[in-house]
Amino acid sequence: MNMIVCVKQVPDPEVPPAKFRIDAKTKQVMPPEGIPPVINPFDERALELALRLKDAYGGKITVLTMGSAKSESVVKRGISMGADDGFVLSDPSFQDSDSFGTAHILAAAIQKIGNYDLILCGRQASDWDEGVVGSIIAENLSLPFIALALAIEAADKALKVKRVTTDGYQVFSVPVPAMVTVCWDVGRPRLPSGSGVIMAARKKIPVWSAADIGVDAGQVGKGAARKEAAELSRREWARKCEIIQAETPDEAGTKLAEKLREVGAF
Ligand SMILES: Cc1cc2nc3c(=O)[nH]c(=O)nc-3n(C[C@H](O)[C@H](O)[C@H](O)COP(=O)(O)OP(=O)(O)OC[C@H]3O[C@@H](n4cnc5c(N)ncnc54)[C@H](O)[C@@H]3O)c2cc1C
Repeated sequence: MNMIVCVKQVPDPEVPPAKFRIDAKTKQVMPPEGIPPVINPFDERALELALRLKDAYGGKITVLTMGSAKSESVVKRGISMGADDGFVLSDPSFQDSDSFGTAHILAAAIQKIGNYDLILCGRQASDWDEGVVGSIIAENLSLPFIALALAIEAADKALKVKRVTTDGYQVFSVPVPAMVTVCWDVGRPRLPSGSGVIMAARKKIPVWSAADIGVDAGQVGKGAARKEAAELSRREWARKCEIIQAETPDEAGTKLAEKLREVGAF
């Protein structure tokens, strides 16, 4: 099975929110200095699902990222986990694209790669959290689309995709090629292997520009964005500590429950 996995480079989500600075002018969230960006954790799950499919049915995994030339590290991460190939899509005209621009660029690169059975995305990017790029790629390429896959089985030019809902599961059958986003519950992604790390370090990752994938600069970037980020701000938390005074644990529990009800906790 030939798979393409879209992975985004994001600021490390393990860094506490208070350590991030917001640049109001460029509308960017700036991580503390010296903390390198990482592969979007949701996309590592998509990669893990692709790797399970490769383990079961064989085939090839290509990793695709759109960003700066420095995004090469997330492609190499994918290769060190077991993917075969990867490309970085980078061009000044891609900067500040919205979800439609991002999907347009990724879809153009997917068409250039060609010969694919399955395209996988994470359920969302952990920085902007819009969760829509996968579905727009599907629309651009006229592919069937399934969101939040937990498991996939292949059978006769079709895929059986199990997806999670809030209270259960659904199983869909789709013809290939198809576009699927992957849910978090897939579980921990595998760690890179030693040989994978060496292979990734040696691999030259091609960087494709707008011209390389036939993207018209007028259709991407800030100028083509259908909405504009007007303001970014941090949610402010006010903390207050109150000690419950009581003679016995029972009394303390009752008073605590009353207090919680008073402040609307339940
Ligand atoms: C400086 C700056 C300015 C911005 N200005 C605007 C603006 O004016 N208007 C606006 O709408 N948005 C703007 N954005 C938001 C940005 O365009 C979003 O990143 C984009 O809309 C995609 O949304 P998302 O990152 O939430 O991806 P999601 O839709 O949450 O991503 C879902 C999945 O798609 C794939 N994917 C997403 N992005 C990539 C990628 N780059 N490479 C590979 N795979 C990917 C991944 O598999 C991911 O899990 C701006 C961002 C920046 C940094």
